[in-house]
Amino acid sequence: MTHESRRRRLGIMGGTFDPVHIGHLVCAEEARWQFSLDEVVFIPAGNPWQKREVTAAEDRYLLTMLATAGNPHFSVSRIEIDRQGPTYTLETLRTLRQFHGDGPELFFITGADAVLEILTWKDPDALLEAATFIAATRPGYDLGKLDLGRFGGRVSVIEIPALAISSTDIRRRVREGRPIHYLVPPQVDACIAERGLYREGLPGAVSLAVSPQGGARTGAE
Ligand code: ATP
Ligand code: MG
Repeated sequence: MTHESRRRRLGIMGGTFDPVHIGHLVCAEEARWQFSLDEVVFIPAGNPWQKREVTAAEDRYLLTMLATAGNPHFSVSRIEIDRQGPTYTLETLRTLRQFHGDGPELFFITGADAVLEILTWKDPDALLEAATFIAATRPGYDLGKLDLGRFGGRVSVIEIPALAISSTDIRRRVREGRPIHYLVPPQVDACIAERGLYREGLPGAVSLAVSPQGGARTGAE
């Protein structure tokens, strides 16, 4: 019997997940399937530099755990929320590489908005060296602007079912007393209701007066 060894393929889905919704799940699952990923690890951001206020990390972590628990290929990592200070994608990718060694191939999964932002930084090359990027289509963002040739095959665009859903909209809906059923998994809906999250804007919010210094974020501040 021959044993064909294949390099493990690890997907990484970064985000604030405030809260996680089915757009994130569809994006991750579609990337997993299209790229034959063995696992997708969701990494809720700790103190994101780009947002002034976010819900407490433990709440966002719990919601992400609840949302992903039913998929044996999904897991959630605490590496960003357990780290002090702002989050840098490059640092996270390097930490994951250190942790896993040369074993797995890393795939960083993003929606169209996030990839457009990342690749307009002054120096995306270090990021693209650390992982292959998978950019999923997202309503309202035009991936046609991406010059894929410029990135030497390190960025792939995937078409996913269009879901015009955002965490911003879900937070607004909860605040206004409108339903979020079917926009988030039922367990997430139940937990948001039970904990009273988002009813008054960001009740569990921590103020983040964080300004990015050094790290991967070298441009477009
Ligand atoms: P917010 O409105 O607070 O920015 P969000 O819905 O954009 O929330 P994030 O946590 O910012 O969610 O996004 C995490 C990742 O998921 C990003 O790469 C983002 O582009 C992607 N993503 C989020 N929603 C969708 C969606 N509906 N379709 C495709 N990709 C998505
Ligand atoms: Mg976003």
